[in-house]
Amino acid sequence: MANEINHFQEIISHCKEYGYIFQSSELYDGLSAVYDYGQMGAQLKKNLRDEWWKSMTQLHDNIVGIDAAIFMHPTVWKASGHVDNFSDPMIDNKDSNKRYRVDHLIEAHVETLEKSVGEALIAEMDQLLSKDDLAGLKNLITSNNIKCSISKTCNWTDVRQFNLMFSTQIGSVAEEADTIYLRPETAQGIFVNFLNVQKTGRMKMPFGIAQTGKAFRNEIVARQFIFRMREFEQMEMQFFVRPGTQKEWYNYWKETRKKWLESIGIPAEKLRYHDHIKLAHYADAALDIEFEFPFGWKELEGIHSRTDYDLSQHQQYSKKKIQYYDNDLNEEGKPYGNYTPFVVETSVGLDRLFLTVISLSYQEEKWKKEDGTEDSRVVMKIPPKIAPTKLAILPLLKKDGLPEIARELLNECKPHFHCFYEEKDAIGKRYRRMDAIGTPFCVTIDHQTKEDNTVTIRFRDTMEQIRIPITEVKKLILEKIS
Ligand code: ATP
Repeated sequence: MANEINHFQEIISHCKEYGYIFQSSELYDGLSAVYDYGQMGAQLKKNLRDEWWKSMTQLHDNIVGIDAAIFMHPTVWKASGHVDNFSDPMIDNKDSNKRYRVDHLIEAHVETLEKSVGEALIAEMDQLLSKDDLAGLKNLITSNNIKCSISKTCNWTDVRQFNLMFSTQIGSVAEEADTIYLRPETAQGIFVNFLNVQKTGRMKMPFGIAQTGKAFRNEIVARQFIFRMREFEQMEMQFFVRPGTQKEWYNYWKETRKKWLESIGIPAEKLRYHDHIKLAHYADAALDIEFEFPFGWKELEGIHSRTDYDLSQHQQYSKKKIQYYDNDLNEEGKPYGNYTPFVVETSVGLDRLFLTVISLSYQEEKWKKEDGTEDSRVVMKIPPKIAPTKLAILPLLKKDGLPEIARELLNECKPHFHCFYEEKDAIGKRYRRMDAIGTPFCVTIDHQTKEDNTVTIRFRDTMEQIRIPITEVKKLILEKIS
């Protein structure tokens, strides 16, 4: 496990070094649990999002996609239950009246302790947080004699829950300002548009609405790189079904989503289902699809059978009828008529999916060369279909007309897939750099190209090199990435 954690640190450093992920506002020492995607990362993220969008909307003729706003009417979050129930623990000092997030208070105390003692305390805190054990957390604070930084006393209130939603004001400050929230999930943008989409798209039951977009949560435990962020991206799909058929659709989406994750290159043995035993009050079934991250098995995607809870809540709070008239015939030959549809949700975090792909792809390889010496490389074996750059085009030398031929090939290929052109450094060094950023194919243009119009193509995963006619390059890459 210790090795795996180290390996995880190497992945994080690698992501920074090769332009995948940077700490947000690093110039100002960073912002905790917020990250920026660099030039390589943004493209990989887009490729994953595009694959998901295509599989949901283009390949399912009964699913459409929308793009709802991040800001929504504040009553949406009242109706959804987030205002009352979406929270984490906090504590007040009775002498200074200063309020602390429990994790922040304990973490600040840990900084004054010896490393191993501090780590044990953090582990204990994480345990209590995961069990929502508020009394246990208070006990942890008092038994460790953790004091308020202002009053320097240990006179604490009980631990209470703290809402995870970020709020802000809409309207000019001079006017009466209204508090609104940054959405903590994209799903509600779909529920409140159910009628709009159903009517304008003339959608018939069962049908789905898909959406990708940013979500914001003031997460209390945010220590695992992009696994748990305060600003992240979700890819969600709400599938509306006739009441009574939800179990069947739940099973369908459970299978379909796992197959999709496998289709983008995640090995089946690295994925497993985890059924929820304790269900949320609105759910009649729920499970996580877990992935074996470098720090253990954790949730990657959730599949939730949410009954008619969300639409009914919005009906109640908006006082507008949210129903569907189903004119298909039931067993008695009569139309099913009016009902509130049931919902099966699939919800995957794009950043977690990104972390999944990166942790599977990152490999350190060592081998013995023919002369007996050792060689090694760091390679990102990102599946070609989703790799940010598909082809590197490398003239062997910066002269003798080789760059001109290379640029001609670049112009032919770049309208079809993402290419990278590089003429600096020795060829071996350029190959290693392409391995490190995960480019699956490299083409080298050399003097022989001028004689017989062939080039060397090198395959990242096997390092095999073969010569092919330059006219075959585009076709070959298109085949490999399709
Ligand atoms: P967890 O139990 O890990 O906090 P959750 O059950 O709260 O997750 P959901 O509300 O079901 O998560 O959100 C659906 C998906 O959104 C998750 O499966 C995950 O991939 C992603 N997700 C949720 N919270 C975060 C976060 N803070 N950072 C990154 N991704 C997240």
